[in-house]
Amino acid sequence: MASTAASPAFCAIPKISTTTNRASTSATRLLLKTPLRSLGFAGAAADPILAHHVATKLRSFKSSSAKPLRGVASMAKKSVGDLTAADLKGKKVFVRADLNVPLDDNQNITDDTRIRAAVPTIKHLISNGAKVILSSHLGRPKGVTPKFSLGPLVPRLSQLLGVSVVKADDCIGPEVEKLVTSLSEGDVLLLENVRFYKEEEKNDPEFAKKLASLADIYVNDAFGTAHRAHASTEGVTKFLKPSVAGFLLQKELDYLVGAISNPKRPFAAIVGGSKVSSKIGVIESLLEKCDILLLGGGMIFTFYKAQGLSVGSSLVEEDKLDLATTLIEKAKAKGVSLLLPSDVVVADKFAPDADSKIVPASGIPDGWMGLDIGPDSIKTFNDALETTKTVIWNGPMGVFEFDKFAVGTEAVAKKLAELSGKGVTTIIGGGDSVAAVEKVGVADVMSHISTGGGASLELLEGKELPGVLALEEAVPVAV
Ligand code: AMP
Repeated sequence: MASTAASPAFCAIPKISTTTNRASTSATRLLLKTPLRSLGFAGAAADPILAHHVATKLRSFKSSSAKPLRGVASMAKKSVGDLTAADLKGKKVFVRADLNVPLDDNQNITDDTRIRAAVPTIKHLISNGAKVILSSHLGRPKGVTPKFSLGPLVPRLSQLLGVSVVKADDCIGPEVEKLVTSLSEGDVLLLENVRFYKEEEKNDPEFAKKLASLADIYVNDAFGTAHRAHASTEGVTKFLKPSVAGFLLQKELDYLVGAISNPKRPFAAIVGGSKVSSKIGVIESLLEKCDILLLGGGMIFTFYKAQGLSVGSSLVEEDKLDLATTLIEKAKAKGVSLLLPSDVVVADKFAPDADSKIVPASGIPDGWMGLDIGPDSIKTFNDALETTKTVIWNGPMGVFEFDKFAVGTEAVAKKLAELSGKGVTTIIGGGDSVAAVEKVGVADVMSHISTGGGASLELLEGKELPGVLALEEAVPVAV
């Protein structure tokens, strides 16, 4: 099968009329056994070299007359790392973290990634003499719901921080105020689930004021909820100065905004997943920035069909055929190499034990559905990736929950691991690609693994996150 790598964009095949069946869109999400997830922190802070590189670029960008990049300039925020002992000693610091960890039926934590991710910011604060008032949500409670109490998190949090964390039974009110008053420097008080109050998600100003009244300074480290304007993520910033970004939030911004806006080139984006409709924003935004765009997953069949190919019973979004054509044209106009898989693994049914075979993209038989990219495509993708200096990946190449159709996704994970070892900046942009990288056991070596699904998708789409916008701007420095 001829490779498409040499062409500047996917070679459009003349449109012919075809009839195809709509495939089942309900990809069963199987629970993946996930090993300990790497957080990628360099020491206690976000990668300082990259952060410096990004901050410098952003500052020089801001001072230039160039056309502003969507969502970039306003995302350069003051960081908790800018606060020293002089700023923090004896101060009460309200930290909004994302401690929304999964618990089993016996209230045991089954994955502590989010707690570990919050540790660098809290440690920085306690080692500089601050009194930490820690807030988070857990689950989706409707009012006070004991099974969503943050109580079960206390032992692990205390262990990781090396201090005895005190837990409040509420997040506002006189009892909480009493506990705050009794805090000494370096103490940590964990407030009860902030979503026990409906006012939290409504971003009620009175509620935000009550939360803010507990502290002197605000730190937002809850990347996973930064795309929501809630009382504890946005409302409180109106009452607390300074309001700054925590290390985790900063690192997410450094990579998902900074490294992508000012990438070391060539810059490749790999976008997969089930539907083109859920990734339109991401593809359009990345087309503005990347040199190479590799597409995989269920969305490719909409592109194939738009190009006049038969797609059998593969997943197709009939109402997105024109959009697929437009995206191909846009890539061409921008000189972006858009590579679609040249071969696919097709199955006779959507099942882990389906019969399967490898066929060229132009030879998908009727009644068969494409569930993974084929070996020629893997080779072409690997060759294209070999040339890059920055890669961002969002979305699997196939139905990776079924081992039989996980080959393409795992090949990408392995290739990115190999490239990371050669100094390429590799960014895993949340969601299922994170699960795939963990399944292959290469999460440790990636430059950045995003901790927020929805928030990372919105950042990649070039949107500004309310929880970030509300924070203080980074102090401009002369460059
Ligand atoms: P998304 O949430 O949009 O990133 O999509 C992830 C889902 O896409 C995963 O559950 C995959 O099983 C699914 N997926 C990937 N490739 C295909 C395909 N060829 N056909 C159907 N579903 C797919």
